Amino acid sequence: MRNKYVIGNWKLNGSLQANESLVSALKASIQAKPGATCAVCAPMPYLAQLKQLLGGSAIAWGAQDASRYDKGAYTGEVAAAMIAEFGARFCLIGHSERRALFGETDRIVCEKLARVKAAGLTAVVCVGETLEEREAGKTEQVVGKQVGAAIAAQGIEGLDGILIAYEPVWAIGTGKTASPAQAQEVHAFIRATLAAKDADIAGRMPILYGGSVKAANAPELFNMPDIDGGLIGGASLQAEDFAGIWRAL
Ligand code: PEP
Repeated sequence: MRNKYVIGNWKLNGSLQANESLVSALKASIQAKPGATCAVCAPMPYLAQLKQLLGGSAIAWGAQDASRYDKGAYTGEVAAAMIAEFGARFCLIGHSERRALFGETDRIVCEKLARVKAAGLTAVVCVGETLEEREAGKTEQVVGKQVGAAIAAQGIEGLDGILIAYEPVWAIGTGKTASPAQAQEVHAFIRATLAAKDADIAGRMPILYGGSVKAANAPELFNMPDIDGGLIGGASLQAEDFAGIWRAL
Protein backbone atom coordinates (compact mmCIF):
# COMPACT_ATOMS: atom_id res chain seq x y z
CA MET A 1 0.00 0.00 0.00
CA ARG A 2 1.38 3.40 -0.97
CA ASN A 3 1.13 6.37 1.39
CA LYS A 4 -1.63 8.79 0.45
CA TYR A 5 -1.61 12.57 0.63
CA VAL A 6 -3.89 15.56 0.45
CA ILE A 7 -1.79 18.71 0.22
CA GLY A 8 -3.20 22.22 0.02
CA ASN A 9 -1.48 24.93 -2.03
CA TRP A 10 -2.60 28.29 -0.71
CA LYS A 11 -0.71 30.12 -3.48
CA LEU A 12 -0.51 33.90 -2.92
CA ASN A 13 -3.36 34.03 -0.43
CA GLY A 14 -3.70 34.52 3.29
CA SER A 15 -3.12 36.91 6.16
CA LEU A 16 -2.28 36.26 9.80
CA GLN A 17 -5.93 36.57 10.69
CA ALA A 18 -7.35 34.59 7.77
CA ASN A 19 -4.80 31.80 8.30
CA GLU A 20 -5.70 31.56 11.95
CA SER A 21 -9.38 31.02 11.26
CA LEU A 22 -8.74 28.62 8.35
CA VAL A 23 -6.29 26.55 10.39
CA SER A 24 -8.52 26.43 13.44
CA ALA A 25 -11.41 25.15 11.27
CA LEU A 26 -9.09 22.60 9.65
CA LYS A 27 -7.84 21.35 13.00
CA ALA A 28 -11.42 20.82 14.09
CA SER A 29 -12.38 18.86 10.97
CA ILE A 30 -9.27 16.91 9.92
CA GLN A 31 -8.70 13.68 11.78
CA ALA A 32 -5.51 11.65 11.33
CA LYS A 33 -5.81 8.54 9.14
CA PRO A 34 -3.32 5.69 9.05
CA GLY A 35 -1.11 5.73 5.94
CA ALA A 36 -2.29 9.18 4.93
CA THR A 37 -0.89 12.69 5.39
CA CYS A 38 -2.68 16.01 5.22
CA ALA A 39 -0.63 19.18 4.73
CA VAL A 40 -0.92 22.82 3.69
CA CYS A 41 1.70 24.81 1.76
CA ALA A 42 1.66 28.50 2.65
CA PRO A 43 3.48 31.64 1.52
CA MET A 44 6.92 31.84 3.18
CA PRO A 45 6.17 34.52 5.82
CA TYR A 46 3.47 32.32 7.32
CA LEU A 47 5.65 29.28 8.00
CA ALA A 48 6.38 30.49 11.54
CA GLN A 49 2.67 30.94 12.15
CA LEU A 50 1.93 27.44 10.86
CA LYS A 51 4.63 25.99 13.09
CA GLN A 52 2.94 27.62 16.03
CA LEU A 53 -0.64 26.75 15.03
CA LEU A 54 -0.13 23.28 13.57
CA GLY A 55 2.68 21.88 15.73
CA GLY A 56 1.45 18.65 17.33
CA SER A 57 -1.66 18.49 15.11
CA ALA A 58 -2.66 15.98 12.42
CA ILE A 59 -1.80 18.52 9.71
CA ALA A 60 1.72 19.02 8.35
CA TRP A 61 2.88 22.12 6.52
CA GLY A 62 5.23 23.19 3.79
CA ALA A 63 6.35 25.83 1.32
CA GLN A 64 5.40 26.41 -2.32
CA ASP A 65 8.91 26.91 -3.67
CA ALA A 66 12.55 27.13 -2.57
CA SER A 67 15.64 28.75 -3.97
CA ARG A 68 18.00 26.85 -6.19
CA TYR A 69 20.80 28.43 -4.16
CA ASP A 70 21.74 27.63 -0.59
CA LYS A 71 23.13 31.01 0.49
CA GLY A 72 24.81 34.18 -0.69
CA ALA A 73 24.04 37.26 -2.75
CA TYR A 74 20.62 36.21 -4.06
CA THR A 75 18.31 38.98 -2.94
CA GLY A 76 14.77 37.87 -2.28
CA GLU A 77 15.49 34.16 -2.32
CA VAL A 78 14.53 31.72 0.45
CA ALA A 79 16.73 28.66 0.96
CA ALA A 80 15.29 25.20 1.53
CA ALA A 81 17.30 24.93 4.76
CA MET A 82 15.56 28.09 6.04
CA ILE A 83 12.18 26.58 5.26
CA ALA A 84 13.15 23.43 7.15
CA GLU A 85 13.96 25.50 10.24
CA PHE A 86 10.25 26.32 10.51
CA GLY A 87 9.24 22.68 10.87
CA ALA A 88 8.04 22.42 7.27
CA ARG A 89 7.83 18.88 5.95
CA PHE A 90 6.99 19.52 2.29
CA CYS A 91 8.15 21.82 -0.48
CA LEU A 92 6.42 22.13 -3.85
CA ILE A 93 8.82 22.34 -6.77
CA GLY A 94 8.13 23.20 -10.40
CA HIS A 95 4.49 24.18 -10.04
CA SER A 96 3.19 25.14 -13.49
CA GLU A 97 2.65 28.73 -12.31
CA ARG A 98 6.37 28.92 -11.52
CA ARG A 99 7.28 27.31 -14.81
CA ALA A 100 4.97 29.59 -16.84
CA LEU A 101 5.17 32.90 -14.97
CA PHE A 102 8.71 32.78 -13.55
CA GLY A 103 10.54 30.98 -16.33
CA GLU A 104 11.45 27.86 -14.39
CA THR A 105 13.00 25.28 -16.68
CA ASP A 106 13.51 21.59 -15.91
CA ARG A 107 17.11 22.43 -15.07
CA ILE A 108 16.07 25.00 -12.45
CA VAL A 109 13.44 22.64 -11.07
CA CYS A 110 16.09 19.93 -10.70
CA GLU A 111 18.50 22.30 -8.96
CA LYS A 112 15.72 23.17 -6.53
CA LEU A 113 14.97 19.50 -6.04
CA ALA A 114 18.56 18.90 -4.97
CA ARG A 115 18.40 21.74 -2.41
CA VAL A 116 15.05 20.62 -1.04
CA LYS A 117 16.28 17.06 -0.58
CA ALA A 118 19.53 18.21 1.02
CA ALA A 119 17.48 20.23 3.53
CA GLY A 120 15.56 17.10 4.53
CA LEU A 121 12.25 18.31 3.11
CA THR A 122 9.92 16.11 1.08
CA ALA A 123 9.81 17.50 -2.44
CA VAL A 124 6.55 17.50 -4.36
CA VAL A 125 7.66 17.76 -7.99
CA CYS A 126 4.85 19.12 -10.16
CA VAL A 127 4.52 18.13 -13.80
CA GLY A 128 1.82 18.60 -16.41
CA GLU A 129 0.98 19.62 -19.93
CA THR A 130 -0.76 22.71 -21.28
CA LEU A 131 -4.02 22.53 -23.23
CA GLU A 132 -2.14 23.15 -26.48
CA GLU A 133 0.24 20.31 -25.74
CA ARG A 134 -2.63 17.95 -24.88
CA GLU A 135 -4.51 18.86 -28.02
CA ALA A 136 -1.37 18.28 -30.07
CA GLY A 137 -1.15 14.77 -28.57
CA LYS A 138 2.05 15.67 -26.69
CA THR A 139 0.99 14.90 -23.12
CA GLU A 140 3.29 11.91 -22.67
CA GLN A 141 6.15 13.64 -24.42
CA VAL A 142 5.90 16.70 -22.13
CA VAL A 143 5.31 14.83 -18.88
CA GLY A 144 7.92 12.21 -19.82
CA LYS A 145 10.49 14.97 -20.35
CA GLN A 146 9.70 16.61 -16.99
CA VAL A 147 9.88 13.31 -15.09
CA GLY A 148 12.91 12.24 -17.14
CA ALA A 149 14.76 15.41 -16.15
CA ALA A 150 14.30 14.57 -12.46
CA ILE A 151 15.47 10.99 -13.04
CA ALA A 152 18.51 12.23 -14.98
CA ALA A 153 19.39 14.76 -12.28
CA GLN A 154 18.93 12.57 -9.22
CA GLY A 155 19.14 9.03 -10.51
CA ILE A 156 16.07 6.91 -9.83
CA GLU A 157 17.28 6.12 -6.29
CA GLY A 158 17.43 9.86 -5.62
CA LEU A 159 13.69 10.10 -6.26
CA ASP A 160 12.80 7.52 -3.63
CA GLY A 161 10.97 9.46 -0.90
CA ILE A 162 9.77 12.37 -3.04
CA LEU A 163 6.22 12.88 -4.32
CA ILE A 164 5.14 13.67 -7.86
CA ALA A 165 2.06 15.76 -8.59
CA TYR A 166 0.49 15.47 -12.02
CA GLU A 167 -1.29 18.74 -12.67
CA PRO A 168 -2.57 19.31 -16.20
CA VAL A 169 -2.16 23.06 -16.66
CA TRP A 170 -5.55 23.32 -18.36
CA ALA A 171 -7.22 22.00 -15.20
CA ILE A 172 -5.55 24.32 -12.67
CA GLY A 173 -7.88 26.97 -11.33
CA THR A 174 -10.15 26.60 -14.35
CA GLY A 175 -12.90 24.43 -12.88
CA LYS A 176 -12.09 21.85 -15.61
CA THR A 177 -10.96 18.66 -13.91
CA ALA A 178 -9.30 15.88 -15.85
CA SER A 179 -11.69 12.95 -15.88
CA PRO A 180 -10.60 10.12 -13.57
CA ALA A 181 -9.73 8.06 -16.67
CA GLN A 182 -7.68 10.89 -18.22
CA ALA A 183 -5.78 11.43 -14.97
CA GLN A 184 -5.26 7.69 -14.41
CA GLU A 185 -3.81 7.31 -17.89
CA VAL A 186 -1.10 9.91 -17.21
CA HIS A 187 -0.44 8.64 -13.68
CA ALA A 188 0.08 5.14 -15.07
CA PHE A 189 2.41 6.58 -17.70
CA ILE A 190 4.45 8.38 -15.01
CA ARG A 191 4.67 5.19 -12.95
CA ALA A 192 5.72 3.20 -16.02
CA THR A 193 8.41 5.80 -16.78
CA LEU A 194 9.78 5.35 -13.26
CA ALA A 195 9.35 1.57 -13.40
CA ALA A 196 11.51 1.38 -16.50
CA LYS A 197 14.35 2.40 -14.17
CA ASP A 198 13.28 0.74 -10.91
CA ALA A 199 10.00 -1.09 -10.40
CA ASP A 200 10.17 -1.02 -6.57
CA ILE A 201 10.69 2.73 -6.40
CA ALA A 202 7.95 3.26 -8.99
CA GLY A 203 5.63 1.02 -7.00
CA ARG A 204 5.97 3.07 -3.82
CA MET A 205 6.08 6.53 -5.43
CA PRO A 206 3.05 8.60 -4.40
CA ILE A 207 1.64 10.37 -7.47
CA LEU A 208 -0.91 13.06 -6.61
CA TYR A 209 -3.42 14.59 -8.98
CA GLY A 210 -4.01 18.35 -9.02
CA GLY A 211 -6.39 20.50 -11.03
CA SER A 212 -9.77 21.72 -9.79
CA VAL A 213 -10.19 18.93 -7.26
CA LYS A 214 -13.29 19.44 -5.13
CA ALA A 215 -14.99 17.37 -2.46
CA ALA A 216 -17.49 16.28 -5.12
CA ASN A 217 -15.00 14.91 -7.67
CA ALA A 218 -12.31 13.70 -5.23
CA PRO A 219 -13.80 10.24 -4.47
CA GLU A 220 -13.79 9.16 -8.13
CA LEU A 221 -10.29 10.51 -8.73
CA PHE A 222 -8.86 8.96 -5.55
CA ASN A 223 -10.43 5.65 -6.48
CA MET A 224 -8.15 5.27 -9.50
CA PRO A 225 -5.33 2.77 -8.97
CA ASP A 226 -2.42 5.13 -9.66
CA ILE A 227 -3.82 8.26 -7.99
CA ASP A 228 -2.47 8.53 -4.47
CA GLY A 229 -4.19 11.72 -3.37
CA GLY A 230 -4.39 15.33 -4.44
CA LEU A 231 -2.63 18.66 -4.60
CA ILE A 232 -5.39 21.16 -3.97
CA GLY A 233 -5.37 24.85 -4.87
CA GLY A 234 -8.61 26.85 -4.64
CA ALA A 235 -10.49 24.34 -2.50
CA SER A 236 -7.72 24.34 0.12
CA LEU A 237 -8.73 27.87 1.14
CA GLN A 238 -12.16 26.71 2.33
CA ALA A 239 -11.99 24.49 5.41
CA GLU A 240 -15.17 22.56 4.60
CA ASP A 241 -14.09 21.86 1.01
CA PHE A 242 -10.58 20.83 1.99
CA ALA A 243 -11.83 18.61 4.82
CA GLY A 244 -14.30 17.01 2.40
CA ILE A 245 -11.43 16.18 0.03
CA TRP A 246 -9.44 14.72 2.93
CA ARG A 247 -12.41 12.57 3.90
CA ALA A 248 -12.56 11.24 0.33
CA LEU A 249 -9.01 9.89 0.58
C1 PEP B 1 -2.73 23.97 -7.84
O1 PEP B 1 -2.49 25.16 -7.94
O2 PEP B 1 -1.82 23.19 -7.53
C2 PEP B 1 -4.10 23.53 -8.12
C3 PEP B 1 -4.31 22.26 -8.30
O3 PEP B 1 -5.07 24.49 -8.16
P1 PEP B 1 -6.67 24.27 -8.27
O4 PEP B 1 -7.02 23.15 -7.32
O5 PEP B 1 -7.25 25.58 -7.86
O6 PEP B 1 -6.95 23.89 -9.68
